[in-house]
Amino acid sequence: MNDAFTLIVGAGPVGLVLAWRLVRAGHAVRVFEREPRLEPMLRSSTFHPPTLDLLDEDGIGAALHAAGRKTPTWQIRLHETGERAEFDLATIADATAHPWRLQCDQSVLVNTLEAWLHRHAPGSVVRGAPVESIGQDNERVSLHWRDAQGALHLEHGAFLAGCDGSRSVVREAIGAEFAGTVYPETTVLVTTTFPFEAHLPGLSGINYVWAPDGTYSLLRLADVWRVSLHPHDDESAEALMQPERIAERLAHITPAAGKAPIGEVRPYRVHQRLASHWVQGRIAIAGDAAHLNHPKGGMGMNGGIHDVFELAESLLEVAAGASPDRMLTRYQARRLPVMRDDIIGQADGNRARMWESSLEGRRRMLADLQAVAVDPARARAHLLRTSMIDGLRRSKSLG
Ligand SMILES: Cc1cc2nc3c(=O)[nH]c(=O)nc-3n(C[C@H](O)[C@H](O)[C@H](O)COP(=O)(O)OP(=O)(O)OC[C@H]3O[C@@H](n4cnc5c(N)ncnc54)[C@H](O)[C@@H]3O)c2cc1C
Repeated sequence: MNDAFTLIVGAGPVGLVLAWRLVRAGHAVRVFEREPRLEPMLRSSTFHPPTLDLLDEDGIGAALHAAGRKTPTWQIRLHETGERAEFDLATIADATAHPWRLQCDQSVLVNTLEAWLHRHAPGSVVRGAPVESIGQDNERVSLHWRDAQGALHLEHGAFLAGCDGSRSVVREAIGAEFAGTVYPETTVLVTTTFPFEAHLPGLSGINYVWAPDGTYSLLRLADVWRVSLHPHDDESAEALMQPERIAERLAHITPAAGKAPIGEVRPYRVHQRLASHWVQGRIAIAGDAAHLNHPKGGMGMNGGIHDVFELAESLLEVAAGASPDRMLTRYQARRLPVMRDDIIGQADGNRARMWESSLEGRRRMLADLQAVAVDPARARAHLLRTSMIDGLRRSKSLG
């Protein structure tokens, strides 16, 4: 087999978006994915406006819209009184073709892109193929992957992209540190078909809520609500995950929810980390392999997609004759500072705001946010930042 232009490790949303961009520009890719099939597991559900703008080609955006829910407003809310600050994305309709967040399970993006690649570049995605080692010289890259029978295979390409998530072997191979912290709290994700919108007046599709006993969030997908709960100080995540305990906590949100049908229940911990460098020679990393941030605000996957649009552009310029060194250096110079300065800090601030425990502090923050929401210029600035439009624009001015 001829060498691929780019070998990609990981068929998550980030690796597959990169594969799609390169294949549609006429280049051969090989994507190696450890898992034999995509496990049904809700992770990312928020697509921000500029990401929807980027994905709006080849029917990809249309497939997301068919499966997701358009959410034009989002709010921060006080549970006790229902007082809220609500932001309307129509305010930035001149800056995006999609002035809404789309709530859609990230697996829809993975399945849609994989099907597209299957049609346009059959055999380019190899599942059940864990990558075990990576190498490079001045001319090309190589990797070894193992098949289900235990046989080891060698592949070559001109470039290699590590889109292999938080435990990236590619990051390790390029010797990057992944410094950061893990947040103390566990989050328990619960899905339910209970109609919160019929019980809580003025609810948006995305709601971050201060409650007397902590904080919770309510995100509405096409056919379920996704509720994020946290164990109390004296409670383990396992205890909170018991059906009667979940029923009790949902009843605190609104009494009738205590009898709600429960779907998925899953605990997770969150890290905040940034890889020290993203490029070495002909190898680059992107997405969760390069950065992890708190999911409050829904920016991890979106940031990874923005990375690989930039990486694809750099690689396509190399294919057209530009220097690989210069283009990959530019990729890192454009994306790393944005993830470090705009996204990781913003997500950390979103989390910190919702963990404020004093009513006085919450009221002060709510009043500040309400003042921003009703001031068109300030609301616009706030939405350009929180929708990741500012970060994307800034990245283009770097490197
Ligand atoms: C509960 C939760 C909610 C979230 N909500 C949001 C949100 O609303 N918005 C948002 O933007 N982000 C959100 N995120 C973050 C988002 O899910 C991740 O940022 C996103 O999945 C990263 O995509 P990725 O392709 O970089 O990595 P992954 O999705 O982790 O994909 C990496 C792939 O690489 C494969 N792989 C790993 N090692 C190897 C190997 N050695 N060989 C071959 N394959 C390998 C893995 O099997 C996996 O399929 C959320 C995360 C969580 C946990």
